[in-house]
Amino acid sequence: MSSTETETAPPTWRLLLGYVRPHRWTLLTGALLSLLTGATGLLLPLVARELIDDLSHDRTITGALFVMSGLVIANAALGGLGSYVLRRTAESVVLGARRALSSYLLRLRITAVDRTEPGDLMARITSDTTLLREVTTDSLVGLGTGGLTLVATVVMMGLVDPVLLGVTLAVIVVAGTVLGVIVPRINRASRQAQDAVGVMGAALERILGALRTVKASGAEHREERTLHAAAEESWRQSVRAAKWAAAAGNTAGLAMQIAFITVLAVGGARVATGAIEVGTLVAFLLYVFYLMSPIQQVVGAVTQYQTGSAALARIQEALHLPAEPAALPAPLPADGAAPASVAFSDVRFRYADDLPYVHHGVTFDVPARGMTAFVGPSGAGKTTVFSLIERFYDPEAGVVTVDGRDLAEWELPQLRSAIGYVEQDAPVLSGSLRENLLLGNPEADEGAVTRVLKTTRLDGLVAKLPSGLDTLVGHRGTKLSGGERQRVAIARALLRRPRLLLLDEATSQLDAVNEAALRDTVADVARTTTVLVVAHRLSTVTMADRIVVMDAGRVRAVGTHRELVAGDPLYAELAATQFLATAG
Ligand code: ADP
Ligand code: MG
Repeated sequence: MSSTETETAPPTWRLLLGYVRPHRWTLLTGALLSLLTGATGLLLPLVARELIDDLSHDRTITGALFVMSGLVIANAALGGLGSYVLRRTAESVVLGARRALSSYLLRLRITAVDRTEPGDLMARITSDTTLLREVTTDSLVGLGTGGLTLVATVVMMGLVDPVLLGVTLAVIVVAGTVLGVIVPRINRASRQAQDAVGVMGAALERILGALRTVKASGAEHREERTLHAAAEESWRQSVRAAKWAAAAGNTAGLAMQIAFITVLAVGGARVATGAIEVGTLVAFLLYVFYLMSPIQQVVGAVTQYQTGSAALARIQEALHLPAEPAALPAPLPADGAAPASVAFSDVRFRYADDLPYVHHGVTFDVPARGMTAFVGPSGAGKTTVFSLIERFYDPEAGVVTVDGRDLAEWELPQLRSAIGYVEQDAPVLSGSLRENLLLGNPEADEGAVTRVLKTTRLDGLVAKLPSGLDTLVGHRGTKLSGGERQRVAIARALLRRPRLLLLDEATSQLDAVNEAALRDTVADVARTTTVLVVAHRLSTVTMADRIVVMDAGRVRAVGTHRELVAGDPLYAELAATQFLATAG
């Protein structure tokens, strides 16, 4: 995902405001508390002036001391409450962004997932969103309260002595010009640092997803270098950003010191000529001192926003990936619902504009009920047929229909609730075996589970497992064999009572006994449901009601085993080799 893809994207502050809007009232409360904190601080120099003048005119100072203590306590209390409210609101903004991104990523089109690194997307949800916290508190609120405090302080300074204010502002304008050069550099470095975190996430995902292969290939050192390089790149860019942020902060600090000295010199001269009193000079110097904090706040807000907007841009890119419409899941078919029919009519399809066509006008008709086997060499486009039926992708030309209705007219959840899909390398998710089975139908009752376990011959396995159905499997539990995994996937699909079962048969994963059992299961299911099988075994193919022979993105022939052996040389050859060489 390059930044050039999103040149037309709206500015990042609009995205930020979208996340902030639901919390605007608490944010305003927090900002108000900060302002009050600032205001109490702002009154202190005035009280100090009273106090000094009282002292120099031999008046009692009890009143002034009392007011001063009150202000200091109010300042601390308001400050504490304010920072709690702000931090809490900022966390809510992060939460909002994480929820929005998570929901969006679950809806991503498979096309989008094909072309992005999952690890990088993960970094966008976990790491980039974290930066919104500082953007909300430091940038948004900092800019608001810092800016207001700045204006208020300047007004107060003008009231105390306009001449000294002029001196102060001159110094600030010079410093502001320098800052204008520094600040954009922070943004560039931050963006590169966050991108490097994304690269690291992608590399981690790649390595952890194939750790056995990495180890077996003795590639640890090379993979380690990839990871370290990404970590170092993030370090390098973050250090660059830190360097510019420090330069910005110190430029502001230096400007204030210079302002302080200049005011002291010019103010001293004015006291000497009798233009102002000492109390006025002290009050003004205190204001210069107080100016420091809102100026640091505004500079901090701007520099922080540079880091944050780099993260916002990465979040925005993720939110512009193609996604499916948001929709509630549709109810599963009732028991005994009518089987579905499927048809392809001159379907042309390629996975991306820069890739070759995978389907060059595929046409076939599968009536409701019965079993249809898809056979053909690896790469013929069989798995792609299933992906198009699930509408993971849309055909470029031609029409796919289910129940005679163009898939484009189906609501996606309705379509998918009608289908049970067993992927070629069907994954077992980490969690219990029960969770795996109920993934597609959490409401399935115990009776249904028992029946499905029996038909998929998983009952024997469950009896052997230490905690039965509650045994943890997959990533962090008992590992299942290839054949067991496939049967779990079939059981999972069957529990959805599908009107259409898509079974992408894994090659040579089942032993002879289980293969026979599964064949019976599929034959059973095919009596009440439409079953499409990508088949690699002669035994599966021979019992199909019809066979679709595919080759190089075209349907070569359709018929029964007997017809095809006699009529199609490719099929005859595949049958002669027992289909075994046709993995894929
Ligand atoms: P089969 O299941 O018959 O072996 P597939 O339908 O899986 O064939 O693949 C057909 C062609 O499409 C192959 O050349 C394969 O490389 C390509 N292909 C499959 N999936 C993708 C994808 N996600 N992105 C790009 N190309 C793909
Ligand atoms: Mg395949």
